Amino acid sequence: MGLLVVISSPSGGGKDAVINALLERFSNSARFVTTTSRPPRPGNQEGVDYHFITSEEFAAKIKHSDFIEYNLYAGHYYGTEKSRLDEALERNKLVLTQIEVNGKHNLDKANIPHLAVFLLPESLNVLRHRIEKRGGVSETDLKERLAIAEKEIAASGDYDYRIVNAEDKLDETIEKIAEIIKSHLSGN
Ligand code: 5GP
Repeated sequence: MGLLVVISSPSGGGKDAVINALLERFSNSARFVTTTSRPPRPGNQEGVDYHFITSEEFAAKIKHSDFIEYNLYAGHYYGTEKSRLDEALERNKLVLTQIEVNGKHNLDKANIPHLAVFLLPESLNVLRHRIEKRGGVSETDLKERLAIAEKEIAASGDYDYRIVNAEDKLDETIEKIAEIIKSHLSGN
């Protein structure tokens, strides 16, 4: 059984970059691909960024109890499919997933063992810039994401680790998380 590591951050907080770097560092590691009813953003790829499905399909999967956890975020559903997670943990030593705070809390409730790391932004202003730069979000969506970010930061107190992911200091962030993961892998 692999180690499940949750990497959360507000939208634009740098989860993707951190996860990609960790995947390069750890052999036998995989990024878990979650399922969403959000339409793909420019550059998003089916099966790589998400499994993209319609909201009707998502509702059917909820009814079918296919999700270990799911969450409604900015008008769209996102969820972790149980069978996919079981398979990923069987095949890999380390599985990295980027769910948000409600998802992490639902993993706790479902007694799913994991290590949880929250990436804190230096400020909400920096976050706004990062989301704008990425594109594909309207002004209304941007405001909603920033409002959610504030709530997420407030709700992240029970993560195992909270790390400031400072602008231009990505290497330091990665180094810290890699050390944390190493110590947990060797303790397994
Ligand atoms: P985005 O639309 O920016 O790709 O994702 C929006 C938020 O949903 C992000 O905070 C992301 O981490 C979170 N997210 C993605 N997949 C899942 C999931 O399966 N479950 C939960 N709870 N959150 C998810």
